[in-house]
Amino acid sequence: MAILIDIRDPSWMQEQELCDLLSPHLPGVSIYCKDAAAHEDEIIMLAAVKLFPGVVKNLPNLKLVQKLGAGVDAIVNDVDLPDSVNVCRLKPDAPAQEIAEYCVAYVLQMQRNIQLHHDNAGRRVWKPLAPKRSPHTTIGVLGLGHIGGRTATSFAALGFRVLGWSRSEKRIDGVECRSGEAALPGVLSECDYVASILPSTDQTRNLFDAGMLKNMKSGSVLINAGRGDLIVEQALLDALEQGNLAGAVLDVFRAEPLPADHPFWNHHKITVTPHVSGWHLDGGFEDVAENYRRLTTGEALLHQVDRQAGY
Ligand code: NDP
Repeated sequence: MAILIDIRDPSWMQEQELCDLLSPHLPGVSIYCKDAAAHEDEIIMLAAVKLFPGVVKNLPNLKLVQKLGAGVDAIVNDVDLPDSVNVCRLKPDAPAQEIAEYCVAYVLQMQRNIQLHHDNAGRRVWKPLAPKRSPHTTIGVLGLGHIGGRTATSFAALGFRVLGWSRSEKRIDGVECRSGEAALPGVLSECDYVASILPSTDQTRNLFDAGMLKNMKSGSVLINAGRGDLIVEQALLDALEQGNLAGAVLDVFRAEPLPADHPFWNHHKITVTPHVSGWHLDGGFEDVAENYRRLTTGEALLHQVDRQAGY
């Protein structure tokens, strides 16, 4: 029985680094980073960011794909992945905190007119602008899971009115929680800022189409730190040009890296960040080792994904 690590991302953690982190927790366990061709029958767990073509087909005894992160849409939708293979994700605190900070940072930037003051200072213009007041501002947080829940409570702690939206009913101190498809238009209509931290599933893809964007309050701002394919890009551009939307802050996109000729890049109402809102996975890697151990003992796995629901 063995683990295969397959990352292939030069800008992120290298396979050997993860192997070095896991090895002390799994003495005696074979962990392959490359050159696993002769050992494919041994591999029961694949630790990966995404599934590269052909990899799963060559692992006849695979029982678990351990996503090295949170978003599992590309994995659960892979046609090569047999139904019998479990999928787990990580749920470390660090990226949840970072994404909450990302949303708070951009909201505060706008509340406090930071960009306007910066531009005015560059032109030596003394122009006092009243900050917008938190208790008079409503933040919508779509997705109240590991990351969205923390984002919602972060805004609530700053005194904002917070509306949260999820699939199932929730109770979160300081957050007015609503749930279900029918509740979303009403949530959007009340919010000055909407932060989407939803997974990409059959139910959420293309959620922000022209019709849904029309529900957003006049002058509001959409922040997307969940997945890019929730937004119909032309509909967003139209809503920014002619509609009710004042701006968008986007960290995730349908195609990443965002193509050089994409209209989002230099749109004056859009802020583009290169999928950086959640970054560090501190501590999460111990759960990779723990899941391998559980896989071999038959115990319940940590952070198992519901493959039908898609998250
Ligand atoms: P969770 O699974 O913990 O939470 C997902 C939330 O979305 C839940 O509250 C869930 O509702 C809600 N949800 C799912 N489907 C629907 C639906 N159809 N209608 C309403 N609500 C729905 O995930 P995380 O919070 O950990 O992560 C969320 C997403 O953030 C990830 O899937 C990933 O795509 C993205 N992400 C982005 C990163 C970045 O750097 N930009 C980094 C990490 C993650 P319920 O609670 O009822 O199940």
